[in-house]
Amino acid sequence: MSILEIKQIATREDNYVYLLRDPIQNRVAAVDPSDFQPIANALDNLGWTLTDIINTHHHNDHTGGNLELKTKYKCSVVGPLADQSRIAGIDIKVGDGDLFSLGNANAKVFDTPGHTSGHIAFWFEETKALFCGDTLFALGCGRIFEGTPEQMWTSLKKLRDLPDDTQVFCGHEYTQSNARFAVTIETGNQNLKKRVKNIDALRAENKPTVPSFLGEEKKTNPFLRCDRFEVAKAVSLKPNDAVSVFAEIRNRKDVF
Ligand code: ZN
Ligand code: FE
Repeated sequence: MSILEIKQIATREDNYVYLLRDPIQNRVAAVDPSDFQPIANALDNLGWTLTDIINTHHHNDHTGGNLELKTKYKCSVVGPLADQSRIAGIDIKVGDGDLFSLGNANAKVFDTPGHTSGHIAFWFEETKALFCGDTLFALGCGRIFEGTPEQMWTSLKKLRDLPDDTQVFCGHEYTQSNARFAVTIETGNQNLKKRVKNIDALRAENKPTVPSFLGEEKKTNPFLRCDRFEVAKAVSLKPNDAVSVFAEIRNRKDVF
């Protein structure tokens, strides 16, 4: 077993790329490298050599650096089996229930379709870290580009089943705008109100709000709470129809 070292790199407008290092075998992965140069620079500064690229989905802001990084470092690329034709440079194809190892650190892979049809997430249990791309965001979830609300809700429920002390390393810093929306759904959620204050304070200092703890998301993220009475009531739907509640909230967010 091994606990990963994790470095967070902000790229483009609001993307996060993560560098993971297994200290036992000195394997180093970049999760969703949007671009070559900022990742190569960060690796230089750390004195780390890239051995792996981990992709959650095919969008360019998550794979844009794949080929140049692969050329420079001769690293291997792991990505979704279901979307292999759309992942540049893919070598290792994984899907639901597979194990991926970065040196001595093991990740369980989940299929999390909805944002894209082949989206996957990686859970490093011992590190207590979830890399979920654009499926789950802090206080939000990804837009449904290629799937259905039912698929996305099922994907989110899979991630919700993980332990509360799991850190959620998502693909974007969207938290403050997600917070503006979340308070329009759960107007009476005191945990949410407290969290929004913290988020505003962090952003006022230009600090990241990511990662968050999954336990916090379970208490405050409306997209993880579609089977709760108070959330269904807020959108005038029945709590026994979580998919419809989810679809309604997702639609409202799309036009917010
Ligand atoms: Zn995306
Ligand atoms: Fe993205």
